Amino acid sequence: MSPSPGAVRELFRARFGGAADGVWLAPGRANLMGEHTDYNEGFVLPFALGHGIVAAAARRADRRLLLCSAQEPGCAADVALDGLEPGRVTGWAAYPAGVAWALAAAGYQVPGACLAIDSDVPAGAGLSSSAALECVTALALTELAGLSVDRRELAAIARRAENEFVGVPSGIMDQTASLLGRSGHALLLDCRSLETAQVPFDPAASGSCLLLINTRARHELSAGEYGQRRAECERAARLLGVPALRYLTGVGEVDRLTDPVLRRRARHVVTDDQRVLDVVALLRSSDGDVYPEIGRLLTQAHVSLRDDFEVSWPEADVAVDAAVDAGALGARMIGGGFGGSVLALARAEAAGPVRTAVAGAFARRSWTAPEFLDATPSASARRMALG
Ligand code: ADP
Ligand code: MG
Repeated sequence: MSPSPGAVRELFRARFGGAADGVWLAPGRANLMGEHTDYNEGFVLPFALGHGIVAAAARRADRRLLLCSAQEPGCAADVALDGLEPGRVTGWAAYPAGVAWALAAAGYQVPGACLAIDSDVPAGAGLSSSAALECVTALALTELAGLSVDRRELAAIARRAENEFVGVPSGIMDQTASLLGRSGHALLLDCRSLETAQVPFDPAASGSCLLLINTRARHELSAGEYGQRRAECERAARLLGVPALRYLTGVGEVDRLTDPVLRRRARHVVTDDQRVLDVVALLRSSDGDVYPEIGRLLTQAHVSLRDDFEVSWPEADVAVDAAVDAGALGARMIGGGFGGSVLALARAEAAGPVRTAVAGAFARRSWTAPEFLDATPSASARRMALG
């Protein structure tokens, strides 16, 4: 559960000489419910994972940012802080460099620094290694500078790095989860008001567990299809006379759309927003064991993403079906679609059979074996104790 601070300090020493001033950690995230709802001003319900990215860091006297990562062994980077602008830095170093750029743009003077990175969040698996990398950099650089920046502002700065410096048009969910998540909780985020609320979420306490299945698939479609879905949602909202699909009050309203594709897209968004609120109500209720019902909603969300929003991919569909057939309470794809991970909810004793069934279904199709990770709602980004 998250790389050891000792190992990343060693990496720092081997690469830069001398000792780091400190080690920081930022978690990846999974989203329990609410997919493609963020840019429709709706609700999402992510939680911070026990897996994360750590950075051992030290100030430098000059204006350079020296970067290395255990996961990018041949690709250390040396970035001049002055004159940074989008396009100047490419590859993985664009994420930390973008954070330095966005911090400066927000008026925070960050010092030159050396950063050594290590991670146990698989990159490109839809678990937001990118936001973890941004958030760990943001926290390390501001704390090295002796600055205390409000975490919501830090999330906005990290998002700006991803959107404008790296050039990925993502929402605010990932950085918010990494910086504001709480152990044993999911984070309800209203993407219209940006209000957040902590919702108790501790499946282990009810004998259940969450399993992430990295399908190891990434289909090329993803960027173009994402843009197309956004455009379809905007068109549907315009035709229905609302500023965003969030403003619809019930699923019946989407029937006014004559275009069957737009109708399906809008139906997914409206029903998924409602599923977020339903899961939150279940988690907040004291009605005994709510996990079977949450599992049912997860599978329902998968069907909606697969059939109405059409962003699922074959490996995800097979993983969901195999998990449910093997006794999972429910499962769904997470993230934007066309690749990444599936989140399954199961009784603790069913976790083993679910893993075996999913691995077997992949093997029968000669697909790359999936990777399994336990998902535990965990604490947000922080400075680590030395060790
Ligand atoms: P996700 O956020 O779902 O993991 P992204 O494509 O948004 O996928 O981000 C993955 C990118 O983030 C990688 O291609 C790499 O540039 C960067 N990244 C993630 N983890 C690391 C790491 N440990 N070291 C260096 N770069 C990383
Ligand atoms: Mg990402």
